[in-house]
Amino acid sequence: MTQVECKNCRHFRQAPYEAPRTGCWHPDNMLVTQKDAYLDEQQAPGNHIKINLRHNCAEFEARAPRPSLLQRILSMGA
Ligand code: SF4
Repeated sequence: MTQVECKNCRHFRQAPYEAPRTGCWHPDNMLVTQKDAYLDEQQAPGNHIKINLRHNCAEFEARAPRPSLLQRILSMGA
């Protein structure tokens, strides 16, 4: 079985830049979810360490590869 790391998963977000709290933001794993955008601060992610304790999380989805520096410059229209 393939071993997966949360840091390579698109559902893993780290505070403070990606999310208000570090954890698993997969909708099925979150502790508290809110539908309305103005209640976003109340949302709480799941504990990624516990969920992926055996490195075999079924909800793992690989992050999209980061574009190269040249691709990012070209996307800005420079
Ligand atoms: S627990 Fe699973 S879904 Fe959540 S961040 Fe880790 S690998 Fe991704």
